Amino acid sequence: MNVYDSARMTDVVAPLGYQPVDEMAEADLVIFNTCHIREKATDKLFSELGRLHEIQLERQTKGERIIVAVAGCVAQAEGPEIKRRAPYVDMIFGPQTYHQLPEMIAQITRGAGQVLNTEFPPEPKFDQLPEVESQNSISAFLAIQEGCDKFCSYCVVPYTRGAEYSRPISDIVHEAKHLVSQGVKEISLLGQTVNAYHGEGADGQPHRLGYLINHLAEIDGLLRIRYMTSHPSEMDDELIAAHRDVPKLMPFLHLPVQSGADSVLKAMNRKHTAKDYLTLIEKLRTARPDITFSSDFIVGFPGERDMDFKATLKLVNEVTFAQSYSFKYSRRPGTPAATMPRQVPEEIKDARLTELQELLRNQLRTFNKSCVGKTMPILFENAGRKGEQIKGRSPYMQSVHAAGSPTLIGQEIQVKITEDKSFSLTGEIV
Ligand code: SAH
Ligand code: SF4
Repeated sequence: MNVYDSARMTDVVAPLGYQPVDEMAEADLVIFNTCHIREKATDKLFSELGRLHEIQLERQTKGERIIVAVAGCVAQAEGPEIKRRAPYVDMIFGPQTYHQLPEMIAQITRGAGQVLNTEFPPEPKFDQLPEVESQNSISAFLAIQEGCDKFCSYCVVPYTRGAEYSRPISDIVHEAKHLVSQGVKEISLLGQTVNAYHGEGADGQPHRLGYLINHLAEIDGLLRIRYMTSHPSEMDDELIAAHRDVPKLMPFLHLPVQSGADSVLKAMNRKHTAKDYLTLIEKLRTARPDITFSSDFIVGFPGERDMDFKATLKLVNEVTFAQSYSFKYSRRPGTPAATMPRQVPEEIKDARLTELQELLRNQLRTFNKSCVGKTMPILFENAGRKGEQIKGRSPYMQSVHAAGSPTLIGQEIQVKITEDKSFSLTGEIV
């Protein structure tokens, strides 16, 4: 979502004459688009700001000015703290107000002093953003939903991104068609809880994600549809049926489970059990037999016992994931879990993370190996590093290299996978 937001900010400031540059030191405007999900992401901001401040001072000696902005969820959650610790930051604004960038820049150039803009405006920003221009690639993101009402006890998202909001179907279809007219072949629908989507249709009624996907699949020239990130309790029958009925919907689903222990899931306020998750995986496999899964995991949630962690390993072994992300629990101020008793010591978190990541890595390796010898459609996205080599993605998001002419970029072509190179696959065009 931050990649999408950054692209949209580029669109918003483009009419003012701003163009992306390669080096931060050459910029007239620097925007840090930040993530607040774990403490580590937040810490990085202040060290980067310090580095930029030195450049800012140096440019000042030449009579030049760099406008410095902090955007995103750290800005939303810690605006006053940033103001205090980094007074040279000109603008601090959250994820819901970046469409107001031109006004904020005007205020700064008029010398109005530091701008702090972290309100949740009543009008959704999507209605005021310009047409998407910056995503001229083969694969693009499209935000369809934002915010979250789930309030998992460890998570900052409901506080930083705000309440769930779904864009109307007509706006999404318009943006998707515009992307396709620019050469986009694959669209990843984005939202913090994307499958909680309930946007308004042409009939004035709310419709769910399965319905929207069926609609988008009718767009000529669009070859692939994906969506992320989903919550298990929002996987309704219509969406599962879309996996069965819509060939353009890719057979790869990121469906975070977080833990395999019911007591932990309950304390996390996840609203599903391990069994619910396994049942859902079965339903999806029945609907689309070649589907594979990825997930997010948190180890060391407060109160997680050794037996709970073992239950997570057991669930991983039962599902088998093609790919995954795993994290040590990070205590986030203001969330209920931060003050829960029985916080897990760091050494135990480290040991559990190492063990889980090894299991997940083995599953990824096994899955990649199982692809060797198979023929699958690859959507070629760009030229490889070596001449006459092109690079694309499998339906399962694996990177695939093949010998071929750059004229094939933008096409989906059958490729026989010949080699597993741990981080990517190699194949031959059939
Ligand atoms: N909306 C998605 C993803 C939210 S954030 C979902 O519900 O799954 C992405 C991932 O970051 C989460 O899935 C979770 O695994 C992780 N995460 C969120 N808060 C965290 C915290 N406090 N500590 C460690 N990991 C966290
Ligand atoms: Fe955070 Fe996802 Fe839970 Fe929402 S559903 S609170 S975004 S982890």
